[in-house]
Amino acid sequence: MAHLEAEYRDFRASVRRFANEEVAPRAAALDREQNPPVEAHAASLRLGLPGLPYPEHLGGGGGDMFAQCVAMEEIARVCASTALGISSSWIMMAVVNFGTEDQQREIVPQMTSGAARCAWGLTEPKGGSDLMAASTKAVRSADGWVLNGTKRFITNGGWAEWYLVFARTSEKRFGLFLVHKNDAGVSFGAPEKKMGMRGSPTSDVILENCVLPESRLLGDPERGAEYIGAALLKSRLQMSAHALGIAAGALDAALRYTSEREQFGQAIAKFQMVRGMVADMAIKVEAGRSVLRHACELLIAGDPEAKLHASIAKVMCSDAAMAVTTDAVQLHGGYGYLEDYAVERMMRDAKVTQIWEGTNQIQRLMIAKEVYEQI
Ligand SMILES: Cc1cc2nc3c(=O)[nH]c(=O)nc-3n(C[C@H](O)[C@H](O)[C@H](O)COP(=O)(O)OP(=O)(O)OC[C@H]3O[C@@H](n4cnc5c(N)ncnc54)[C@H](O)[C@@H]3O)c2cc1C
Repeated sequence: MAHLEAEYRDFRASVRRFANEEVAPRAAALDREQNPPVEAHAASLRLGLPGLPYPEHLGGGGGDMFAQCVAMEEIARVCASTALGISSSWIMMAVVNFGTEDQQREIVPQMTSGAARCAWGLTEPKGGSDLMAASTKAVRSADGWVLNGTKRFITNGGWAEWYLVFARTSEKRFGLFLVHKNDAGVSFGAPEKKMGMRGSPTSDVILENCVLPESRLLGDPERGAEYIGAALLKSRLQMSAHALGIAAGALDAALRYTSEREQFGQAIAKFQMVRGMVADMAIKVEAGRSVLRHACELLIAGDPEAKLHASIAKVMCSDAAMAVTTDAVQLHGGYGYLEDYAVERMMRDAKVTQIWEGTNQIQRLMIAKEVYEQI
């Protein structure tokens, strides 16, 4: 994040040290072996990262949106999969915001201690962009609820213990449910084979007559869409920081490589065309960082304009991630195309940042709606 106050600078230095020492050395192997970041997740508990946004009275770090974005950017700078694996524990902030005290006391300590992990269950086989078309159903029973449906592309599917599932509770209304992986009627699809983010497991979550007690409903069964809207506003900023971290990591790699690689008797960093590309990469990173910082400020201040600026940050940071990683591969020449160099992984990891968390087309629709409403 640009121009951080002292408290965040110290925090950033600690996360950067953790990322360089504990995360970076494992990044290539996670990608190659398609394993989740078990060791880095455990090591991150020393800094309290899985519990960062949770309130201190529930064992969390009380870190605000700046702190969350700083942590996300620093980890994604060296390994996007690990950043996602650690930060996905933050999803259960929905329980703090909309759940009962009993739900908070049960679930939050599992996140802050690292005893359990969690996941969002929104997208379905028939679509992710049109969330209000979701067909997973939750029907009231004598003791609680019965859920049926399939959630697709679920990050941490099978790895997480807890799933926050968005399900239709009436013709036009939705609720949010806390589903545990050991609940009867829960199963998982085969792990998806992905272009990137290979150290982050993705699978279907299948619910077949999954019977839940009333205590697993989050808040009001008719206000799930509203809760998800509020939660997605925050996660959009976190995921912007994730994309920004990928872009910043690729810029770091390009700076190092172009300073060392020689052609025509000098470092390629001396060539004007290379310098122009590097300048454009730095412009994209810094612009994304500034827009993200502004969006965080608006969110923390409770300003309704945060919604517009979160969408702008999501588009700018993820487009920056794709463009900067592509240029970083270009600047590595043939070596950039090899698995031996991190920029190859970064370019594959970057693509999904334009797709998830509301695709960039959907973000642009939301931006246009907001700006037209301001006329
Ligand atoms: C690796 C990975 C991890 C994921 N993790 C999760 C997760 O943890 N939880 C979860 O719930 N989901 C997750 N997703 C799903 C992701 O959020 C969706 O893939 C995304 O929202 C897009 O939905 P879709 O794939 O159904 O594409 P579609 O909605 O079918 O869209 C296809 C294309 O049409 C475009 N399009 C759609 N509607 C419009 C429109 N009105 N105007 C213009 N263009 C439009 C889209 O932008 C896109 O380019 C993940 C996806 C991936 C790939």
